[in-house]
Amino acid sequence: MEKNRTMNLSDKYIASTYSRLPIVITKGNGCRVWDSDGKEYLDFVGGLAVCNLGHCHPNIVEAIKEQSNRLIHVSNLYYTEPQAELAKLLIENSFADKVFFCNSGAEANEAAIKLARKYTKEKGKDDQPEIITMTNSFHGRTMATITATGQEKFHKGFEPLLPGFTYVPFNDIQAIEKAIDRKTCAILVEPIQGEGGVNCPSDNYLKGLRKICDNHGILLIFDEVQVGLGRTGTLFAYEGYGVKPDIMTLAKGLAGGVPIGAMLARKEVVESFSPGSHASTFGGNPVVTASALATINTILKNGILQNCIEVGEYFFKKLTQLKRQYPFIKEVRGKGLIIGMELEFDGGDIVKECMDRGVLINCTMGKTLRFLPPLIVTKGEVDKVIRVLDDMFSGI
Ligand SMILES: *Cc1c(COP(=O)(O)O)cnc(C)c1O
Repeated sequence: MEKNRTMNLSDKYIASTYSRLPIVITKGNGCRVWDSDGKEYLDFVGGLAVCNLGHCHPNIVEAIKEQSNRLIHVSNLYYTEPQAELAKLLIENSFADKVFFCNSGAEANEAAIKLARKYTKEKGKDDQPEIITMTNSFHGRTMATITATGQEKFHKGFEPLLPGFTYVPFNDIQAIEKAIDRKTCAILVEPIQGEGGVNCPSDNYLKGLRKICDNHGILLIFDEVQVGLGRTGTLFAYEGYGVKPDIMTLAKGLAGGVPIGAMLARKEVVESFSPGSHASTFGGNPVVTASALATINTILKNGILQNCIEVGEYFFKKLTQLKRQYPFIKEVRGKGLIIGMELEFDGGDIVKECMDRGVLINCTMGKTLRFLPPLIVTKGEVDKVIRVLDDMFSGI
């Protein structure tokens, strides 16, 4: 009854921009969620790389409770404590010197695109607005960020797109060299492509991009919206590749489940923003920044990164064993706890059957099963997912 009501209301009154799976989730704890019938699921979607500390982590719950009793919102016309403390924590733990707060990944990328263009103009390069992005990338759903997204399916029906974007294949240094001309101001890239199918950078690719940007005097922007915040085993993915960008964007996992976005940049670049350049009413709101503070402090102090590396390697090994058993598994790719398993056929039915068997997983690019479990996941929980997959695959 309850379940039908929720599904009917949603289908009737909410714009159908998602094709949802037919369960109503009512409760979560750690790596588990429960539906309205009380059925339990192991959650290997993790709110799409948002719930990096699992569901309802006590530190996050406490921070939100405490802050919402004190102050929920005042706008950025005034200083607030949690925002200042979060900025300090982010800057002290990254390459960057300053941060701009907003509310989503798309907004963070919008800010990065605006900053890159403004900085370049202020350096006297008046006609240099072009940004190179990758095919199969994903940067968000606003007009600028669908344009930045190098996938036609996200453009269709929304033309004209924003001028000034060029696409090249991911992992192709020569294509970048060819695409750069005197109008180029920046390269925008995900260190690992998430929505595009969990595509990892080949050795020295990101270092190569850094070198090219330095040689041409253009900016390197890393979109770490999906892979930041511990997902790859370091707080930020760039640390694991020995490359520092000029600008980095964050969102998904940053505040443990409440909406936030952030754009970080090094000093010389970020100084192109001055009062009036850019803004966000909710950006850096006290409740979300208090939640983000609790999230990052917990990631840094509780062995979360170590767990991500250890369980990530274990999971990868187990999935690779499945690949040896089942020839229809084309490839297993990933780092830390973002792992993709590419199949030779559409993965939609696998996702549904996993759900029936009490495991939530996701599929991207049609054929790539994507695993984004909370970073607190255990080997025992991985074993359970492997058993379910093995059992299902053996019936194909
Ligand atoms: C999810 C995602 C975005 C968009 O974030 P929203 O919060 O949905 O706007 C941008 N970039 C990457 C890499 C993402 O995974």
